[in-house]
Amino acid sequence: MNASVEHEPSTASGTICHWIDGKAVAGSGRTAPVYNPSLGRVVRQVSLATPAEVDRAVASAARAFVGWSHQTALRRARVLFRFKELLDRDARRIARIISEEHGKTLDDALGEVTRGVEVVEFACGAPQLLKGEFSDNVGRGVDSYSLRQPLGVVAGVTPFNFPAMVPLWMLPIALACGNSFVLKPSERDPSASLRLAELLAEAGLPDGVLNVIQGDKEAVDALLDHPQVAALSFVGSTPVARHIQARGVANHKRVQALGGAKNHMVVMPDADLSAATEALIGAAYGSAGERCMAISVAVAVGDGLADALIEKLRQRLVHLRIGAADAAGVEMGPLVTPAHLARVRDYIELGVREGAKLVMDGRAHSAASLNDGFFLGPSLFDAVRPEMRIYREEIFGPVLGIVRVADYRAAVQLINGHEFANGTAVFTQSGAIARAFASEVEVGMVGVNVPIPVPMAFHSFGGWRNSMFGDHHAYGSEGFRFYTRLKTVTQRWPDADTVRAEFIMPTMK
Ligand code: NAD
Repeated sequence: MNASVEHEPSTASGTICHWIDGKAVAGSGRTAPVYNPSLGRVVRQVSLATPAEVDRAVASAARAFVGWSHQTALRRARVLFRFKELLDRDARRIARIISEEHGKTLDDALGEVTRGVEVVEFACGAPQLLKGEFSDNVGRGVDSYSLRQPLGVVAGVTPFNFPAMVPLWMLPIALACGNSFVLKPSERDPSASLRLAELLAEAGLPDGVLNVIQGDKEAVDALLDHPQVAALSFVGSTPVARHIQARGVANHKRVQALGGAKNHMVVMPDADLSAATEALIGAAYGSAGERCMAISVAVAVGDGLADALIEKLRQRLVHLRIGAADAAGVEMGPLVTPAHLARVRDYIELGVREGAKLVMDGRAHSAASLNDGFFLGPSLFDAVRPEMRIYREEIFGPVLGIVRVADYRAAVQLINGHEFANGTAVFTQSGAIARAFASEVEVGMVGVNVPIPVPMAFHSFGGWRNSMFGDHHAYGSEGFRFYTRLKTVTQRWPDADTVRAEFIMPTMK
């Protein structure tokens, strides 16, 4: 794999910079290393913003908000149309940037870009989606109508695992609504966000409407405390999501904070076993399990089904093609950083100590034959029990646990008792079971014979319980609600001589 991609916006010193007021701005503070996980080494540094730099980005966005919010929705949508065309033009280039810093395969990275572009396409419908409601003649000569108006400067804080798609869950809709935006991407793969900022500038977005601040907790806390930030969208782990929500709300901001996950896939005895196995392999080990919608628990209903499923998984997993993210035919790349690799390996060790049965040990793959990248093979645990930490906690790696249950009811009870409730799926040929599952399972996103039910751009994305804090889900019509506030106007145009003071509550009598 090449040590560096064709293009990454950076300062002359090779340190990934901020994007403020329509141009790249070098950081003045600390830096952090950015790895190429396939090579297992640091390829560049990223600036970590100081509160003063955050303040500069927010001030720029506040200035730009005035003009942008007064543009017509149609003109704002036209910028997004051009942005979509530029994203299509540069999709492969962005995918290479993602793949290099994250470690996911090129095809997977391309899929991520496509899902992000779909939100841009949806946001192009802003003139329709922002239409208010009108009631004629609610009283004598009185009409009432409602408007959805932008919030002001809004911020987004995003995770490492989707460095383009998750910013694109937020940006297109926030901008279409007339807000200006400050994005704080993950410091682990920061380059893709700068490419998005460059493309938006090329599409005609006025300077300052989007600013990108590189950084860590210090930058995030500066955004959370900044009086000019009206709202914050967060996607990341649950402990940080809790912090974001508590501090954001304490500072009177609107907050949506999407957190971690432990997604269960129920395999019923009547399921098509080959289809279920293929679905599980892709959903558990694709992107090395570093997806918030990855399946990390297979709930096998009945021992006969469990034994057959494990055997089929094992046969397929021994042939899983692991390698550098840009190598042809690779199905699973490395983990994102050495620290994350160590963490996932520790969980495998923990599972063994807790008494789960390690059917396949991915640690055997971290061999010298795969150069020095952060590689880990697929791990499969059988006999996982609900009290084990490897069941309760999010591992976020290529580790699948099988929990055996006796029947459908026990499967639903198990899922509804888990702390996380992001996504889930059932594999069955029974319409009755599928319908009952969709209704009874207490999880935000549900798949029926679909292992990763990530909603399309015109629906909305969000989990329940500790997988999400805040009221509005991400993108779709929920996104338009989150990034606007409602104003209701009641109007009358009376003759001047009919106006009398009224001292009682106005009614329609
Ligand atoms: P993370 O929580 O470590 O980081 C997310 C963002 O928060 C980053 O920008 C990071 O710089 C910032 N951050 C980290 N620690 C912080 C702190 N103490 N205070 C303030 N800001 C802080 O998450 P990650 O490791 O980048 O991403 C993986 C996690 O994200 C997993 O838990 C995964 O399930 C979750 N995720 C959830 C969804 C979803 O839609 N629910 C989607 C993608 C990822």
